[in-house]
This record gives sequence, C-alpha cells and structure tokens, in this order.
Amino acid sequence: MDFYVTTPIYYVNDKPHIGHAYTTIVADVLARWRASQGEHITFSTGVDENSQKTVDAAKKAGEEIRAYTDRMADIWQAAWAKLGISNTDFIRTTEERHLEVVRDIWGRIDAAGDLYKGTYEGLYCKGHEAFIKESDLVDGVCPEHKTEPEVVKEENYFFKLSEYQDKLLRFYDAHPDFVVPANRFQEVKSFVEQGLEDISFSREGKDWGIPVPNDPHQAIYVWADALVNYITVKGIEGWESHPADVHTVGKDILRFHAVIWPAMLMSAGLPLPGQIAANGFITNAGVKMSKSLGNGVNPFDLVARYGVDAMRYFLLREIQYGEDGDYSEEKMKTRYNADLANGLGNFAARVLTLAEKETGSASGGVKFGELDEEFSKTIADTRRIVEGKMAAFRFSDALAAIWDAVSFGDRYVNDTKVWEIKDDAVRGKALFNLVSLLDNVAALLPPFIPETSRKIAASIEWKDGILNAKKPDVLFPRVK
Ligand SMILES: [Zn+2]
Repeated sequence: MDFYVTTPIYYVNDKPHIGHAYTTIVADVLARWRASQGEHITFSTGVDENSQKTVDAAKKAGEEIRAYTDRMADIWQAAWAKLGISNTDFIRTTEERHLEVVRDIWGRIDAAGDLYKGTYEGLYCKGHEAFIKESDLVDGVCPEHKTEPEVVKEENYFFKLSEYQDKLLRFYDAHPDFVVPANRFQEVKSFVEQGLEDISFSREGKDWGIPVPNDPHQAIYVWADALVNYITVKGIEGWESHPADVHTVGKDILRFHAVIWPAMLMSAGLPLPGQIAANGFITNAGVKMSKSLGNGVNPFDLVARYGVDAMRYFLLREIQYGEDGDYSEEKMKTRYNADLANGLGNFAARVLTLAEKETGSASGGVKFGELDEEFSKTIADTRRIVEGKMAAFRFSDALAAIWDAVSFGDRYVNDTKVWEIKDDAVRGKALFNLVSLLDNVAALLPPFIPETSRKIAASIEWKDGILNAKKPDVLFPRVK
C-alpha cells in the first residue's frame, strides 16, 4: 500500500517557526506511523517561491531573487533535517517539473470553461508594488510602508468557484471525514452553504511567477500555482492513480484546502485528496505569538535545550490535535521531567540495568519464554488503542496509552521488587516480562520520538533465546 502525505509549502521568505514545525511534525508522525505498518511513503514538503513577498524580501536583502531563494530553500531543508523530518521530497515552485504541471492544470480548468476575464478591484500598496489585504492594514495604512493603499482595478482571470457550491456540499456529505477535526469541518460546510464567490486566479503585469499560458502579461496567482504543488510531487498520472491521502495544514489555510482546492480538482477532472487535517495555533504562555511582541517560540532553541525528541513529544502530547495549544517554559519542563526523565527514561534505565546484571550471571541470563497474561494483555491493548487513536489523529491520546503501559511496568517493578527475587527462574521470568514490555513500547514510539525508540531497541538483543541487554546512556537527563 502507498501512503501520500503533504505539508503546505511555506513562503520561502519566512523563517521556520514553531507553527510550521508543528504542522510538519504531524505530517512526519503520520508518515512514520504508516511506514511502520509496512506502507510505501511519499511525504512532501517544500517552499513557495513565486509570491510577490519573495521579490520584496530579496530586494530588502539586496540579493538577486534566484540567489536569495536558493539560500532560503537551503535554510528550510536544513531546518527539517534538524527536526528529524523524514520527507521523501522537497518541492520548490520555481522547478521546471512544477511549471509544467501548473500549465497543464490551468489548461484543464480553462478547457472546462471555468476561467473568464474580469475586473479585479483591490487595495494596492505602491511600496509593496502589490495588492494587500484589508485585514493587513493597521489604522488604514500599510504597516510596512505607512501609506494608505489605493483602490486599483485590473483585468484578471477569474475561476468560477461559485459554480462548485452544490458539488462541494454533496462531496462533503459523502465524505464525513474529509476534514479533521469535525468542528472545523462544520465551519467549512457553513462557509460553503452561505454561497461562494468567484475568485481571482491571476495578476496583471508581473515579471515574477508563472505566466498564464498564451497571456504572458498575466501571472498565475497563488491558487493555481502553490496548491498544484501536491500534484507536481506525484506527476499528473501519479496523482490520478493515487492522490494525497492527507494534507496537513494550519487552520488559517484550511479553507483554501477544503474549498478552493477540491473545486479546482473537480474542474480539472482529477481525483480529490483523502483528508485535510488542520491543526490549531500555539500560544506562548497564553499570549498569541507575534513579530511585534517578539514572543515567538523558536523550535530550534527547544531542540538545543531539550533535544529533538523532547520537543516533538511536547507538541504531540501537550496539544490535543486540532485544538489550539499553549507552550510555556514551565509546561515544557514539567512534561520533560515527569514524562520523559522520570517516566520513560527512568523505566528503561531500571529495566535494562536489571537485565544487564542478569546477562552473564550465574543464572545464565534472561531467557525468552512466554509472557505472563497481564503483560501480553497490556501489550495487545496498548497496540490496539494506539492504532485507533492514530486513525483518529488523537496523537496525545496515543501517547497517553503508551505511557500507561510504562506506568504499568513501573508498578510491576516496585511491587515485585525484582532485584530481591532469589529464585533464578522467577526473577528471569519477571525480567522477560519487563524487557518485552519495554521492547514493545519502543516499537510504538518511532512515529513520535524516533531517536529514543532507536536507542532503546538497540539496547535489547535476543540471541539464541537469551537476552543481551545493555543499559543505554541516560535518555533524558533531568533539567532544572
Ligand atoms: Zn506596503
């Protein structure tokens, strides 16, 4: 089976922040989970380079646009490598393979009779040399150039989105899991039920971006350019035979993905993606992060301080997927010390220390055998719960179930006082139970904390029915 998951393509002029990191980590969790089920993975992320913002940012940096985008694309790729992201593709919208697919999709939508020329009216900022949104204005002026924008009209191509209202609503009805979580799907449906307006699909006189076929004075606007990246990654035939299973997005771009994108695909005669999964926003100690407040949480600072697995764990465990979540140093530290240092880290160290002592002892080591029923049941139950939670995007609940299994193991160590058991066979059996539990826990962890999972698994080796256990280095040193 194939599984195709995507992140949005991020504006190349942005710096990777915690919101980008979260959306991308979620896609990585899904990719790694499905890989652990034996599926073949296509996992794409990338950058949008064709926006007017790119031109502005390159100018500001005093660089040629191409040199600037090359440099920034490298920054994004390096960022994801640092967070252990397992993407199989990284797409840049200036690549030739993308231009070809965009032209093809434009041609299909045009051939379907869904494009027409009309007059676009918008707020134009001379400083930006671009249209800006009313919602971007501060006290009626452009916050960057401190000038009032002009109302400007220009000829654009429009897409007949209005004609897709009924088709979209019918599609939503037939696919009750199309948008996750359900409350956001409800918002999308209500929005579409109120009626849709045609949308501007091009901009006049741009020298950056992809030209409209047969009308080079028009550049294709974001919808028929950026969104099409998901097809580019697979090629048109690849998309026809297997469209994306999941698009992960932030809630701010959900409508584009759940309304405009499916309508475009219907128009182009192409299959629709399986699911759109939208995450909420992350606040910093209850306060919205913003450039002006300078209170953005830098994911790479967290990695430097706590390690990549701890950062991933925090986001996945602390935030209920789909809802808004909050980061604070206090919460991060509490999760880290309680769940990772004292929880999993301590349990692994206890079990592997005891098992290592047994290796090479007079008892002949821990022998592979049959699990006590409470252990086989705990392992089977945990796996079943995790499978269900993963299918429902309940990552926090999946982790909670795994940590319940760790607590069960911890209680067993305390209750039986394994180290005091005199009978070799009884002690060997207790250790077999515990190492097996730890091994099974580690097998469920790769989607969430891949490095730690690898470290634990590498400490456990069954050879000819005898365990070779090594106590690993401290997995999560306590932080103050
Ligand atoms: Zn401006």
